[in-house]
Amino acid sequence: MAANVLIDVEVLYYMSRNELPLHRSLHTYLGGSAAGLVAGLLMWGLILFLARLMPPTSRWKQRLAQTSRTRLLLQSLIAGLIGGVSHVFLDSLMHADMHPFWPLTTGNALAGSISVASLHIGLGLLGLFSIFLWLFLRDPRS
Ligand SMILES: [Zn+2]
Repeated sequence: MAANVLIDVEVLYYMSRNELPLHRSLHTYLGGSAAGLVAGLLMWGLILFLARLMPPTSRWKQRLAQTSRTRLLLQSLIAGLIGGVSHVFLDSLMHADMHPFWPLTTGNALAGSISVASLHIGLGLLGLFSIFLWLFLRDPRS
């Protein structure tokens, strides 16, 4: 989630300046991956910071203490990378001003390959499916 917000700060920035194109370096697989890794690193630091603020009796803090910092960092980086890459892929389906494979090549052959309505409905259904999956597969003790 942090990777997605971080990447779309680029769009907000260029929208605020009324400059086109809106999707630039962070909306490439290279830039999105880098932004995702930065977001993962930031979230790892935030989690460690928040853990210090939690009381020792906190179940969340106790569960967090069972996982090594290195593993948490790796999980955060992987999550950020997945967020960054998937953001670029999904945006490339609907934004013609992107160049997802820059600097290797320019252009965006995927733009318009699916309607925006179909994309939004598909993502909504995927989100619902994910919620159900999370509800049925999560540890009931957590
Ligand atoms: Zn975007």
